[in-house]
Amino acid sequence: MREAVTAYIGVGANLGDAAAQVRAALQWLNDLPQTQRLSASSLWRSAPVDADGPDYCNAVAALSTRLTAPVLLQALQGLETRAGRQRPYHNAPRTLDLDLLLYGSARIQSPLLTVPHPRLWERAFVLVPLNEVAPTLVDAAALQAVAGQRIERLEAVPLPA
Ligand code: AMP
Repeated sequence: MREAVTAYIGVGANLGDAAAQVRAALQWLNDLPQTQRLSASSLWRSAPVDADGPDYCNAVAALSTRLTAPVLLQALQGLETRAGRQRPYHNAPRTLDLDLLLYGSARIQSPLLTVPHPRLWERAFVLVPLNEVAPTLVDAAALQAVAGQRIERLEAVPLPA
């Protein structure tokens, strides 16, 4: 059997009841095959970056998974579809956006998948929640670099028993 890898997933939504959608997505991540959710950040509200529409609700989840990175990405895209996501244009508002931020220490560059996620270090809405679940991965300088981006905590997500 493959070894389990710790992967970090960025979750975002800015259509409909975005917080409810993010909460649902955190649950769905725990239900993926060969995958267990280890932890989840608080829910955060952030201003759209390079995108349209209302404020986003964001979170980051840590997973332990035996899925390969491409299969995990496919599974994430399946969840986006389950949430009714449509892609009318680049960076359109979305019911659910799931990004594979980190997959263990893997560096992947393929036409479908880049890991670590190329914009991870540029975005407060990723770094701030990632810092909650994996503080050793985010240093103070990285947080300082995105300090001008508006983000505020909505609520802490209690893990299910
Ligand atoms: P988006 O429409 O913003 O969800 O972007 C999804 C596209 O980005 C898909 O075509 C993916 O194949 C590609 N992609 C590349 N690297 C990643 C990643 N680390 N996480 C999620 N999507 C990725």
